[in-house]
Amino acid sequence: MGIALAPAARVSALRDRTPVVTTLCSHSSLQIFYGARHEGLGTLGIAVGKPPRFYEAFPLARPDRFLSLSKVTDLGRHANTLQREGAVVIPTGSFVEYMGPEAFDALDVPVFGNRKVLAWESDREKERQWLEKAEVPMPRKYRDLSSIDGPVIIKYHGAKGGKGFFLAKSPKELGDFRPTGPYVIQEYVVGTRYYLHFFYSPLSEDGYRVRHGSIELLGMDRRDEANIDELYKLGAQEGLRQAGIRPTFVVTGNVPVILRESLLPQVFDLAARIVDTSVDLFGGMVGPFCVEGIVTEDLQFKVFEISTRIVAGTNLFISGSSYSDFIAPHLSTGRRIALELKRARAEDRLSEVLS
Ligand code: AMP
Repeated sequence: MGIALAPAARVSALRDRTPVVTTLCSHSSLQIFYGARHEGLGTLGIAVGKPPRFYEAFPLARPDRFLSLSKVTDLGRHANTLQREGAVVIPTGSFVEYMGPEAFDALDVPVFGNRKVLAWESDREKERQWLEKAEVPMPRKYRDLSSIDGPVIIKYHGAKGGKGFFLAKSPKELGDFRPTGPYVIQEYVVGTRYYLHFFYSPLSEDGYRVRHGSIELLGMDRRDEANIDELYKLGAQEGLRQAGIRPTFVVTGNVPVILRESLLPQVFDLAARIVDTSVDLFGGMVGPFCVEGIVTEDLQFKVFEISTRIVAGTNLFISGSSYSDFIAPHLSTGRRIALELKRARAEDRLSEVLS
């Protein structure tokens, strides 16, 4: 038996009934519902207001039923109903953001994955401690503005979707910086961005083993970020700034990418260390996660962020990817979640994948 994340009482009802995969009608819900349906599980969509009409256009990814709320934060009040129905909540970025990390943490309904990860992911300093402990190469961190000696990206804590980040090629350009809240200063890494979609199963005994279980690489994307992707990054900053145009990193879409095969040993090694360290720190980052980094010209992968749940870039790979096809046909991250849930139930190990 591995590490129990969920109290026994929270998962006991799920032994006698098929779990109902439940998520907010947004982000990667089509993929999550489609994957659950593929595996014969029930589905429930949480809608704010009326159920969105776009599901009518995608009948195979439409949830069986909807729960309509006037606001996401009302979800906690429906905990009893959700428990009775056998709901298992699948967290997504927008779900946690709209509901608020504290209310999400307090939700008395089984959640797929380890909700303790929230505290580590939402705080940039804590996330850095985790990655440093895992000995993962990261962009250099500057203590303060006076220590800057090269290109930097200045990020606010909890900045939503990369808005308001400040870029400077050199200390000279800091004159324009007017902080609007607490921030961190990072080396601006020049290279190519990759967003790697992993899945950690504490139950699995096959594949790429980590200390408890194994990890799988299910896909990879690069985010299209408005308007920075059209501003040719650092080069044009000065002129653009004079023209009153500020860079933002708001994600507008995703494109599939593939990594040089010779970099795979490096990124699997990093991902394994991130997972093993998460087990030591808080019982493990179970389920989907994304390692987000930049490959430099000397082929070093530097990690600037990890997302500890399903990312929207996985929506590219509903029918599989150039990586997941080597594991099983038609294996999306949404379907992988459903498979893990079914296995945990069959082996009576639900408390290891739910919290
Ligand atoms: P984050 O909020 O940390 O995910 O960063 C948002 C976006 O900023 C990323 O998707 C990258 O495009 C960019 N970015 C973040 N950190 C760095 C860095 N150290 N060097 C260069 N670009 C970065």
